[in-house]
Amino acid sequence: MNKSKVAIIKCDTYDEEDVQRAVEAGLDLLGGLSLFVKPGERIVMKPNVLIGSNPEKCVTTHPAVFKAVGRLLQGMGANVYYGDSPSIGMAGFNMKRARLKQAGDELGIELADFDKGRAVSHNDSLLIKSFVIANGVLDSDGLVSLPKLKTHPLTRFTGAVKNQFGCIPGLLKSQYHVKLPDPYDFATMLVDLNTLIRPRLCIMDGIIAMEGNGPRSGKPRKVNILLFSSDPIALDATACRIIDLAPEVVTTSAPGEKAGLGTYHAENIEVLGEKIEPLIIHDFDAIRRAPTTRSAGRMSNFIKNRICERPAIDKAKCTNCGTCVRMCPVEPKAVDWYTGDESKPPTHKYDRCIRCYCCQETCPEGAISVEKPLLGKIYSRI
Ligand code: SF4
Ligand code: SF4
Repeated sequence: MNKSKVAIIKCDTYDEEDVQRAVEAGLDLLGGLSLFVKPGERIVMKPNVLIGSNPEKCVTTHPAVFKAVGRLLQGMGANVYYGDSPSIGMAGFNMKRARLKQAGDELGIELADFDKGRAVSHNDSLLIKSFVIANGVLDSDGLVSLPKLKTHPLTRFTGAVKNQFGCIPGLLKSQYHVKLPDPYDFATMLVDLNTLIRPRLCIMDGIIAMEGNGPRSGKPRKVNILLFSSDPIALDATACRIIDLAPEVVTTSAPGEKAGLGTYHAENIEVLGEKIEPLIIHDFDAIRRAPTTRSAGRMSNFIKNRICERPAIDKAKCTNCGTCVRMCPVEPKAVDWYTGDESKPPTHKYDRCIRCYCCQETCPEGAISVEKPLLGKIYSRI
């Protein structure tokens, strides 16, 4: 069996020239960009925008990485576009806030349509037989994924695989949380999405990553690396080893290997460039235990509410803005002003909560984090 290749290049700055050199070096190690892209092809770059914010907050793929990859694709003679469907709002607005619109303008490339999409069937999938995919992706010849290295409460890690979730337009994304409340089913859906889209190449911005309460409200943490691979599972597994997170804990790893998307086993991955061991950050703040399965029928609400992790609001940080209430995808809402008093923070009803963490992901104040109930803490020590 051929091993999956993952290239690691050290880069400790977002200086454009340094990033350009680092991206070129990483692609050279993989055999050159010409292995993945042909002149004249329509290629869409997919950065991680989530909710557009200043690049210094490290929520989004940095414009320096975006520009370096864009320049090289243009140098190959590709017709380059870019896009992402954020968690809230239209793509263009969020791209502007992430300074990716300005980067795109400097490259002279256009925003593709990620706000609307078309239905596509996927007969070879593990679970989901049909997706609505953004027009910008369907109208391209290939996609180059530009994920950001960050923590995530649902999948534990967001990187090359989860980045493609933004190829589903708008609020259709949140419907997958409702349809697939079990984290392992949700992860299988992400894998199916990837086997449908098949990114040509993934280049991860891990120069300054995000630890703790990611993917939006964590802390920036210097990891000083860029990672390159055509195998999104191997790329994520390698990034996880660097932040001392076992790839087995990441929910997309096992279904990703089962679906033939890639491998997370170290013995099947050829690491090029830097060695992993000297880069490992043992105190990187991440949840290092696998999520508990919690789909209906597999666990009663009684047990779920006393053992499973759940979102919790820090009242001191909450500004009562209501974003969490609007973004909660279940009906009736699992976070709301149940007393009707909107001058106070909303509260959660955990019986209704599917632990999708849309509220945590979108809270603009970072007021929602993941907590484990007391019984859950005791249980995990047994
Ligand atoms: S989104 Fe955050 S700040 Fe806004 S109401 Fe919810 S918890 Fe409070
Ligand atoms: S309360 Fe939060 S975690 Fe629970 S279902 Fe609503 S958005 Fe998801």
